[in-house]
Amino acid sequence: MRILITGGAGFIGSALVRRLIEHTEHEVLVYDALTYAGVESSLAPAAGSNRYGFVRADICDAEAVGRALTEFRPQVVAHLAAESHVDRSIDGPGAFVQTNLVGTFVMLNQTLGYWRGLPEAEKAAFRFHHISTDEVFGSLGDEGFFTETTPYDPRSPYSASKAGSDHLVRAWGHTYGLPVLVTNCSNNYGPYHFPEKLIPLIIIRALNGEALPVYGDGSNVRDWLFVDDHARALQAVFERGAPGETYNVGGNAERRNIEVVQTICAILDRLSPRADGKPYADQITFVTDRPGHDQRYAIDASKIRDDLGWTPSVTFEQGIERTVAWYLDNTDWWGDILGDRYQTQRLGVSNG
Ligand code: NAD
Repeated sequence: MRILITGGAGFIGSALVRRLIEHTEHEVLVYDALTYAGVESSLAPAAGSNRYGFVRADICDAEAVGRALTEFRPQVVAHLAAESHVDRSIDGPGAFVQTNLVGTFVMLNQTLGYWRGLPEAEKAAFRFHHISTDEVFGSLGDEGFFTETTPYDPRSPYSASKAGSDHLVRAWGHTYGLPVLVTNCSNNYGPYHFPEKLIPLIIIRALNGEALPVYGDGSNVRDWLFVDDHARALQAVFERGAPGETYNVGGNAERRNIEVVQTICAILDRLSPRADGKPYADQITFVTDRPGHDQRYAIDASKIRDDLGWTPSVTFEQGIERTVAWYLDNTDWWGDILGDRYQTQRLGVSNG
């Protein structure tokens, strides 16, 4: 199949691209604006393939989207391009409304025009797959799980913009008949994760001998999914999912933030001990909580398991060990990002 992947230079998009080039015969066209979050070197393992192409353009640019569709003629659009960082959405929500809402509208409208011009058989097989987050469901207490029928209750500018984009996608499915799929996934982690997100930020700051900032008392719970397992889930959904359906994707690996940070510290103590012999956990500091910080997310992923046979292939312990080892072995990848254009001081809005 020919698959157009928006946001393919991002964390999850690049994992999907690497997977499709390495493990399938699909052709891939990455469509990505290369914002601060887009990292071309994450695509290096795929870039040599003759089944790989790249277009640098904005999803809000209707003409460029239309051109990519008519020239590449995809059978699947996997839409991952988004502004994705909750803290940034608190500081500057405008970009989130623009890319996540307006950009998704442009993608849907251009795709609809392209899809209407396809022969009937190709029309039926086509899929517009929208990649979303479990954050649209709001926050859980100590009990319960998000299912595909949990009412939406987004609480940050990021999750509100993603919730709005999910609604637009379903509306284009119901109103115009576009064959759409939606997946809502829990927190991802793994190699090539941009250094501002919790797990890579902690690894890098630990190695640099810096304080390890943990929001509030560290009790917020997230369900963690290894990014390559998310890529497998996305492939299962666009290859075999039923149009119009939503699938929740989760790692069945709930951890409190403080547990995640302590686990990383313990792995680093083994793999790269501090010169002074002290534990990395000594660097942990608690910082002012994120405003409106959701307490707990947890996913019931039984539908994708029962309907499509997908389950996570690695446990959190296996995945986090692999992730820490990857950051130790790939200092060039994150060193370039930090050196070029980024500071690691992002976590905590009070830190600027
Ligand atoms: P990311 O921030 O790492 O990557 C986003 C990519 O989109 C970047 O390559 C960026 O250059 C590109 N992009 C941003 N704005 C664009 C625009 N206007 N036009 C074209 N390209 C643009 O994000 P990610 O973590 O890989 O997340 C990918 C998708 O998965 C997002 O839609 C996100 O909401 C969703 N999601 C993420 C997680 C997670 O834990 N990271 C969990 C569930 C769902």
